[in-house]
Amino acid sequence: MTAPVIVWLRQDLRLTDHAAVTAAAAQGPVLFLYVLDDDTPGDWRIGGASRWWLHRSLEAFAKTASLTLRRGRADAVIAEVLAETGASGLYFTREYAPWSAALERNVKAACDTAGIACHRYGGYLLHEPEAIRNGSGEPYRVYTPFSKACFAAGEPKPLKPVPAFTTWSGPVRSEQLANWDLLPSNPNWAEAMEECWTPGEAGARQKLADFIAHGLAHYAEARDIPERDVTSRLSAHLHFGEISPAQCWHAVRAAQMQVGGKLDQAAEKFLKEILWREFSYHLLHHWPNLPTEPFRPEFADFPWNDDAAALKAWRKGETGYPIVDAGMRELWATGIMHNRVRMIAASFLIKDLLVPWTAGEHWFWDTLVDADIASNAASWQWVAGCGADAAPYFRVFNPVLQGEKFDTRGVYVRKWVPELQRLPDEFLHRPWEAPPMVLKAAGIDLGRNYPHPLIDHGKARDRALAAFQRIKGTA
Ligand SMILES: Cc1cc2nc3c(=O)[nH]c(=O)nc-3n(C[C@H](O)[C@H](O)[C@H](O)COP(=O)(O)OP(=O)(O)OC[C@H]3O[C@@H](n4cnc5c(N)ncnc54)[C@H](O)[C@@H]3O)c2cc1C
Repeated sequence: MTAPVIVWLRQDLRLTDHAAVTAAAAQGPVLFLYVLDDDTPGDWRIGGASRWWLHRSLEAFAKTASLTLRRGRADAVIAEVLAETGASGLYFTREYAPWSAALERNVKAACDTAGIACHRYGGYLLHEPEAIRNGSGEPYRVYTPFSKACFAAGEPKPLKPVPAFTTWSGPVRSEQLANWDLLPSNPNWAEAMEECWTPGEAGARQKLADFIAHGLAHYAEARDIPERDVTSRLSAHLHFGEISPAQCWHAVRAAQMQVGGKLDQAAEKFLKEILWREFSYHLLHHWPNLPTEPFRPEFADFPWNDDAAALKAWRKGETGYPIVDAGMRELWATGIMHNRVRMIAASFLIKDLLVPWTAGEHWFWDTLVDADIASNAASWQWVAGCGADAAPYFRVFNPVLQGEKFDTRGVYVRKWVPELQRLPDEFLHRPWEAPPMVLKAAGIDLGRNYPHPLIDHGKARDRALAAFQRIKGTA
């Protein structure tokens, strides 16, 4: 029997535009291997919501090609599978987490020991983090020049179609996905997620097509309005590599060309968001402590307030600020939160409550279906003001004004905080200011069926700015 070539699948659960699959398919029968490796350093074991997604995504992949599943340290498992199958080569896509390079070196060493070639490809990003440098040859710390350099680097390469391949049919031990306990059981908190999402390559392609058909034209003007469903909702598909950023880029460019100029602004905005993802990875690659340490070292001395009760109320969507609560409840139910609301909710935790940004980062890690080591860390640092190219610390979002500006008609808040449904628009984002008669008519009993505000925003803002002053001397 011909020896297989192994494709080690990671965050690249697709067949289209997949350099490693294309190269492997040309060499011989392919064995697709996925290793569930929970031996991740730090607290970065795949979180709960992502585990649900991973299960569904692996299930979807297995419908398109036979998949071997194993658990354990990826380098050790790969060494075992090489020995078990007598494979003639290993193919995989590069990753950029702080532990990825060491793991990939170990995998290469296992291939060397087995006397076979090890082939690593890009594709998770548009540009390798080393490829984009400023005029002095240094990595970028600021997004705008970084994005200009990416645009100047040219359009992504043409996409690779799904190659013809044969599946290796030799004996190899595979575990049962159902035994991995990636799905929640009791309680099953993923019911709403099952309704919202279709993990897998086909689901990703459909999301992109829907976005091009219905969202893109409105993207530039409405992407900040949570009630409008105009953003792509591709982040989890991109995270798991069910679609490549190049596929998204080319699809948007093709749509832009078709209508000659009408979509220019929308397309540019969208491509710039894809480049925020690139920038997050650029930062993570060059500053691997990004998920744990403030990029601006002076923030290491910030007088945080480790308030466990406040953190708990924030997590549960019980802060008394409707837009924050709506976002946190959307997150819990669906595994996603609109970007504008992520910024408001994160700012509230960090600046109003003075809870360390890493606490929010970890909650998002566990509850987001798009939880991503680079984008999550870079975004939390951005909101906290301690990041590379961050919102200044003294810019404190006012959750009432933000709610009134971006959820003017209250559609988003009424959906996720149903106890406020009957409150008139005028008071929806500030229920504590509603006269008792109005509250009563709306069926609201503050402190009983909806909380009083956890903190007075004006006072919280002053406290945050005073705390910032304490480190500013070194800023
Ligand atoms: C506190 C906080 C935490 C975040 N954590 C994550 C995370 O763990 N994973 C994640 O993918 N995004 C994260 N983001 C960024 C952003 O909120 C999501 O990428 C976006 O909401 C996903 O929705 P979409 O796919 O409809 O985005 P679209 O608006 O359609 O954007 C297209 C794609 O661009 C990328 N993108 C958009 N905005 C950003 C951004 N600010 N930073 C990096 N990439 C971006 C995503 O891959 C997204 O799918 C976070 C933002 C904040 C403020």
